Parts: sequence; C-alpha cells; structure tokens
Amino acid sequence: MTTDTDSLYAAWKKIYPRHQEGFFRNLRWALYGIELGLFFLLPYLRWQRSPGLPSQAVLFDLPGRKFYIFDLVIWPQDIFLLAFLLIAAAIGLFFMTALAGRVLCGYMCLQTVWTDIFLQLERLFEGNRKQRIKLDSSPWGIRKGLIKVGKHLSWIAVSGLTAFSFVAYFIDVHVLPQQIVTGDLPFAARVTLFLLTIGTYAMAGFAREQVCIYMCPYARFQGAMFDEDTLIVAYNPQLGEPRESNRRTRSVMGAKAGMCIDCNACVTTCPTGIDIRNGQQYECIMCGACIDACDSVRQRLGGGGERLLSYTSLQELKGGKTHWLRGRVVAYAVLLTLVLGGLVLYLARHAAVELTVIGHRQPLYIVQSDGSIQNNYTIRILNMTSSEQTYALEVEGLPGAVLTVAAVAAEDAQGHPLLTVGSGSVTPFTVYLRQARDQVTPGRQALQFTLTAQSPQGGSAAYTGVFNRP
Ligand code: SF4
Ligand code: SF4
Repeated sequence: MTTDTDSLYAAWKKIYPRHQEGFFRNLRWALYGIELGLFFLLPYLRWQRSPGLPSQAVLFDLPGRKFYIFDLVIWPQDIFLLAFLLIAAAIGLFFMTALAGRVLCGYMCLQTVWTDIFLQLERLFEGNRKQRIKLDSSPWGIRKGLIKVGKHLSWIAVSGLTAFSFVAYFIDVHVLPQQIVTGDLPFAARVTLFLLTIGTYAMAGFAREQVCIYMCPYARFQGAMFDEDTLIVAYNPQLGEPRESNRRTRSVMGAKAGMCIDCNACVTTCPTGIDIRNGQQYECIMCGACIDACDSVRQRLGGGGERLLSYTSLQELKGGKTHWLRGRVVAYAVLLTLVLGGLVLYLARHAAVELTVIGHRQPLYIVQSDGSIQNNYTIRILNMTSSEQTYALEVEGLPGAVLTVAAVAAEDAQGHPLLTVGSGSVTPFTVYLRQARDQVTPGRQALQFTLTAQSPQGGSAAYTGVFNRP
C-alpha cells in the first residue's frame, strides 16, 4: 500500500527568483550581450562573393548543400568537419566542468539566457518578487488579465524573433520576411519557425529550471567530472554557523554567532530554488546570484572581509589550496588542443579545388596518321572557393606530351591550357593528350594531371592517371 509520503511524485512549485544586482549579475549581462548580439545580428552581416552566390556572411544553404562561413565554403564531403567540431565541443565541455563545474550553465547556456530574458520581462510586467507572488495568488480581474496578456505577448514576440533569427541562418535574412509574407516559405522552414517559437515560449516561459534539473542530461553526468578541486559555489559553514536571524539573540550570542543572519536572500534569489547552505547540489547552475545577494546583505550590514558564499572548491573549504593543474584537467586540455589543432590544420589545408580525371575506354588509344598516340579524358573541376577561378592544366610524367582541351583556346605563358570554372560549380572538360611517335614506348604509363589556380586562394590539385599505348 502506498501512502502520500511514499509517493515519488512531487508537485511543481513555481519559483519566483528575486532580482539581484551585483558583480556576477553584470558579468552575466556582459556575456549574454555577446551571445545574443552574435545570434541575432550575424545573419545581417554581408560578405562579398561572386555574382550568383549568397551575400550573407554566414549561411547554411541546405538546398545547395553548401555552408558559407565568411570566406570558407563547406561542402558535403567536409562532413567530418562537423564530427571534429562536435568532439571538440564535448571535450571542451568536459574540460570546463572539471575546472569550473557547471559554470557554462549559469553564464552561457541558451536555456539560462532565454529564461533570464523571460524573467526580466515578467519583472517588467508583474513587478518584483513580492508583487509577482501577490499577483498570482490574487483573484482574476481586468488588471491581472491585462498584465498577464502583456507578459505572454512579450514572451511570444521574443520566441518568434528567436525562431526567425535561427531560420535566417538557413534562408537569407533579406529574403525571409518576404517569403513569410507571401507564403513562399519552404515547408521545413515553416515547421521550424512554428516549433521553435512554441519551444522557446514553453522552455523559457514555463519549464525554466525544470529543464536544468530534470531534462538536461549534462546535469546528471557532470558529477563524473567533478573532484575536490573543481570550482563550485559554496557556503562556508565555518564562517556562517551558527546562523541566527534574531538580532537580540545574536547580541546575546556575541562572537559565538555565525556571520549568516538567516535572511534567506540567497534562497529567494536562486533561479533553481535551492538553499546552497545545505551543501553542494546538482541543481546549482553556478550563476553566482546567491553570492551577489549575500554580498549585498553583508554590505548593508557593514560587514566586510571573507565571503559567506563564493566560488571556491571543496579543497579550499577544508582549509587546503585548489590545485588547478590536475591529471584530468591536463588530459582534457591536451585532448582539446589536439582536436582543435587538427581542426585548424584541416581548415588551413582545406582543399579549394577538386580534380577528377576519367580516361575514355572506347577506344583506349588512337594511333594518329603521324604515328603519335592520343588518349582522351574527361576531367571534372570542382571550384570550392567563393569566386570564379582560372586554372592552368599540365601533365607530368609523360615525355613529349602535348595537351589540348576541347573548346579552350586560352593558354598561360608556358603554353598550358587555362580553364575557367565558376564558384561553387563542377565543370567538365574534354582533354586530348598526345605523345609524339619518337617518345612512344609500349604499354601503359602512369602520369599526373596538375591543376594550378592563377589566384592564391584558388589552390591546386593533382590526379594520377594512366596513358594507354599499344
Ligand atoms: S545556488 Fe547560487 S549559484 Fe547555484 S543556482 Fe542557486 S543562485 Fe545560482
Ligand atoms: S544571503 Fe548570506 S546571510 Fe542571508 S541567508 Fe544567505 S548566506 Fe545567510
């Protein structure tokens, strides 16, 4: 038989975090500013590319299967770049967690940032913590209705803007509004706009701290990366205890009273609704709001000296010193450096051009009237840069070779044919390769086709092929 006390279900209690100014609040605003500024403004940044190519600096062109990131064009064959990025992000997360716990949750996580924006809007419409609690417990009337409608409309507006900005990374931001108005928006974009608006509204407006506590897998596995030297937000019981709120009792206790006046300011400020004085808890997102709250209380009381709540480590709380250079931190740092190094190397050597050569089989070779041997090939050039390129084509490894390309008359100073290929396109060319009679030896001969762009950013490519002879 189950009783109420056996129940595994706990009803959700709405949290009304108190707004608190302070150093960590300002730090969060600064980081939010960078993150939100990048997210919302990046689609408006233009970039000069060849005619016919998108002019948006960062655009993920899914129908065209190309990602434009400033001068970099990512093709489907670069897909393992994404794997590199994901691995780097995962190791970076492990590294940060081992070093500074859940600090990314408190300062950079999208759920935290958007929930905070929604909370500020709630504060704008409904007032401070006390006023919000009072409003929610008051009966419904015109005033309450208008305030709630205003708040929800502002939330929906932010959610819609968020969804719009996200989709603008996939459809040019200058075309997107027009497509929305005319109804020409692709189906997938419509669904994304709708789901992201609803999702942002639900997650930041209603689910809030529940996402951090119950839904986020990171909250569950972060413990595996923690140790006694990891940075945490903690209460110092040696300074704070015994806590006492009553002034008279405190004066009787004198020096025996701890610094904590049990004002609860740290609890009412906490966005996840925990009391950090009860010890380290996985719900803590390390936002530092409680530190700001306690600092301001102690300032009001004229207290200085050590902080009751601070970013510290279990080592320091025990009277020791935090060791920043530890085995796991160094291991994560080395791994991260290796993966990022590989990424930079890959990007630095990122092929700007791809060359494919297919030898014609019907016939394998042609014996010309002057005794020379001719092989025909189809070459395909893929220009992966963001501008049109001209390449010089040459052949190495075949003595007495004469190279001509169908419908191409342009040549460089050395007499190599010059082939022009538009940005982001694949162009086939028919190539005739002839070996003079006096150089011909029997059998197959390996050779190399080399393509060299006339501009430094065009790159070069080589392809090993075969020349067939009787
Ligand atoms: S305990 Fe402090 S640092 Fe942790 S989530 Fe609550 S307010 Fe933020
Ligand atoms: S804000 Fe500081 S003084 Fe007030 S209850 Fe929290 S730890 Fe104690």
